[in-house]
Amino acid sequence: MKTNFDLVVVGTGSAASTAAMECREAGWEVAMIDSRPFGGTCPLRGCDPKKVLVGAAEMIDGVERMRGKGVAHGATIDWSELMAFKRTFTEPVPDGTAKKLHEAGIHTFHGQASFVDEETIQVGDNQLTGKHILIASGAKPVELPIEGIKHLTYSDEFLELDELPSKVVFVAGGYISFEFAHIAARAGAEVHIIQRGERPLKNFEPELVDLLVKSSEENGIQIHLNTEVKSIEKTESSFTVEGTQGE
Ligand SMILES: Cc1cc2nc3c(=O)[nH]c(=O)nc-3n(C[C@H](O)[C@H](O)[C@H](O)COP(=O)(O)OP(=O)(O)OC[C@H]3O[C@@H](n4cnc5c(N)ncnc54)[C@H](O)[C@@H]3O)c2cc1C
Repeated sequence: MKTNFDLVVVGTGSAASTAAMECREAGWEVAMIDSRPFGGTCPLRGCDPKKVLVGAAEMIDGVERMRGKGVAHGATIDWSELMAFKRTFTEPVPDGTAKKLHEAGIHTFHGQASFVDEETIQVGDNQLTGKHILIASGAKPVELPIEGIKHLTYSDEFLELDELPSKVVFVAGGYISFEFAHIAARAGAEVHIIQRGERPLKNFEPELVDLLVKSSEENGIQIHLNTEVKSIEKTESSFTVEGTQGE
């Protein structure tokens, strides 16, 4: 087995694939490593599956907005059917990614990568050396200082829920919270977003955020501003989110 490369890439997501493909096209010997199924966040547990759910939510929104204007009957989301549809997009990704990489002549390794020294990576029983090593390992959720944090469901798990709970509380008002909140609301759940500061989506255009907040509230999403989650407790049939509200 080949273990010496021009480039060893940690990750197989969009960042990793772009660099690996370019280098391979330039004639480099390239290896890619991933500890999770090949393909990375965007097609497996990020943008793409989310867009399938957003597509369904937009349909419901469109029908609702036309109610009384010529569209008579409402539509509803069948969550488990929607999830099954979503999986038709995500499930082929790991094999498809591996096939594409192999066809390009890129060597793939599955496992957790760690550095042995500046030019050597350990993956499983293999030591790979690279003239260049690219870390394209993506991001992971921050560990929030919240008691009972182990009860939180993260975005990866939300995108795999077989059933949508009747009530969903999103901790923090970032773009993923807002997108998921609108999906869950259109699918019939009672939805809350808890935002520590006075404004959610702080890296986005304030005027647009105000419009989004207004439209979210009109669609039944309850946004709790200046509220910080202190603890999450699991009771027999539900979770209790304890928070404090600031000024
Ligand atoms: C729910 C959600 C929705 C999103 N929606 C959008 C959107 O609509 N539009 C948009 O532009 N962006 C969106 N994003 C962000 C986008 O998905 C990421 O920015 C992008 O996928 C990052 O790509 P990447 O290649 O940097 O990392 P990733 O795709 O995360 O790939 C990194 C890979 O490295 C692997 N890895 C990490 N450490 C190791 C190790 N030590 N050994 C081996 N492998 C390792 C991981 O398993 C992972 O597969 C969304 C993200 C999420 C979570």
